[in-house]
Amino acid sequence: MDNCIFCKIGNGAVPSEKLWEDDKFIAFLDINPINPGHTLIIPKGHVENVFAMGEGDYAAMFAAVKKLSGPIQKATGARRIGLVIEGFLVPHAHVHIVPLNHGGELSFSRAKKAEPGDLMETGRRIRHHL
Ligand code: AMP
Ligand code: ZN
Repeated sequence: MDNCIFCKIGNGAVPSEKLWEDDKFIAFLDINPINPGHTLIIPKGHVENVFAMGEGDYAAMFAAVKKLSGPIQKATGARRIGLVIEGFLVPHAHVHIVPLNHGGELSFSRAKKAEPGDLMETGRRIRHHL
């Protein structure tokens, strides 16, 4: 869809700190992480929210969430991996995968813009474990 930032990330028109992709999905670091390693996974095709996805794509996306969770946890040393589906800012389906160390951390009030160098280093470390 024209003017959708996640469609542009999905087709490579907008750069991202990409962790993994296949023909249907791409995972990349959120530029405003709650904690380092905060990842977004999206379908490359535009769909407004995850619950509008077909069963097969929905299941495949969550299989990819599971596949990413281990490498993200290893690379960050986080005690837990949390998931959020919200979509108040970007109306293109996505799941937030967030490394956590304490209860109560899973809040967007804690999100802060990351330094590009920090995103690159975190991305490198996660890809190493994939
Ligand atoms: P929400 O739609 O409320 O689930 O939040 C959308 C998320 O997308 C926010 O956490 C933003 O920081 C993130 N975001 C927006 N634009 C980009 C981008 N170009 N690259 C990475 N993350 C982004
Ligand atoms: Zn889109």
